[in-house]
Amino acid sequence: MLLYDNLLETNMGNYGIRLPMSPARSEKILRFLAERRGLAGASEGEDSLAGPPPGSFPLLSLAGAAERLGLDSPLLSRRDLERVHEREFVARLYNDPGPGSLEGELLKTYELINADGSYNRYEPHKALKPLEELFRTILYRVSGSYLACRLALEPNPPGAAGRPGPSRQGPYEGFCFYLGGGQHHGRYDRGSGFCLLNDIILAARKIQEEGRASLIWIVDVDAHKGDGSAELVKFSRDRGETFAGKNPEIITLSVHMASGWPLDSESLAGAEKGRAPLVESDIDIPIAEGEEALYIPRLGEGLNLLEKRSGGRKPALVIVVDGVDVYEKDGLPSTRPLALSKGQCLERDRLIFSFVRQFPSAWLMAGGYGEDAWEPTALFLHSLIMDKC
Ligand SMILES: [Zn+2]
Repeated sequence: MLLYDNLLETNMGNYGIRLPMSPARSEKILRFLAERRGLAGASEGEDSLAGPPPGSFPLLSLAGAAERLGLDSPLLSRRDLERVHEREFVARLYNDPGPGSLEGELLKTYELINADGSYNRYEPHKALKPLEELFRTILYRVSGSYLACRLALEPNPPGAAGRPGPSRQGPYEGFCFYLGGGQHHGRYDRGSGFCLLNDIILAARKIQEEGRASLIWIVDVDAHKGDGSAELVKFSRDRGETFAGKNPEIITLSVHMASGWPLDSESLAGAEKGRAPLVESDIDIPIAEGEEALYIPRLGEGLNLLEKRSGGRKPALVIVVDGVDVYEKDGLPSTRPLALSKGQCLERDRLIFSFVRQFPSAWLMAGGYGEDAWEPTALFLHSLIMDKC
């Protein structure tokens, strides 16, 4: 199952914000698959209820996913946000009376304001739309990760005739890839690194609150450390929070660049806030510059540690933060210290897939920048269609 929506593509210029966005990454992935007959009768976000031909992916829009799951709306609620993030922070996002505002949070999250208060890459006089609308778009994007988890957990809804049954191990049995999501820098009380909210933990906690899953694994292989996810899991653990009256666990694995943002910059910012700036994931695997040949074996070790840490318990759901800014042709200069080849990216994803395929898994697209960022994701999905995993 693939989850995608035209509405996920945001022109930040409409809000007066200039950002180096990846051009049409999702469309390129979908086009690549469609040309190889890897998409089931849905070329323009149209839902396929008739069931796909063998070896292709059904494609759902977010609204289509919500309808299929029997939800009134595809959007997460304010209560859902407050389950994970600080209430005061959420109040600012909704522009409640009081200190702070949505605009202030967006300026910080997208690094649009300099230390002297002047704007950086932000020209509000050129904005065509209000920032409230951007917040709604972000909320929509963030909500898709929850829908992806639900689809992974419920892969065979009534009416989906022709879909492989539970006994057959098809490439999309219990598998959903969301062409969006992966905002792993979203912190407890603030946005960070272009991530306003943490869709990964929002999805995981809602799933747990609804009693749909107990143990959830997060496998984060974006080039950047999943700092926000680690923080949210730790804070919640320290507070002894319960979900659906129980204490369901999230265990986090992050494989990332050993240096660079956020590892280098956060120590200063954290010291200013008077708290430990960078929280450890349950398992952190840093990869230093020039260690690309060690990436796959280290990832394998990380996955084994994840299993070990679970003490024999099986995850009810795995969320994979499948960023491709590790790719050697990625357009973000700061990720150059980690440069996996196309083949290594594919090997990475196939290793994860083969490790987690016995469990429902929701995959989030996460980081990836520049003209070529679509390639590793497209090749991975195509390899599933070709049943090469
Ligand atoms: Zn990244």
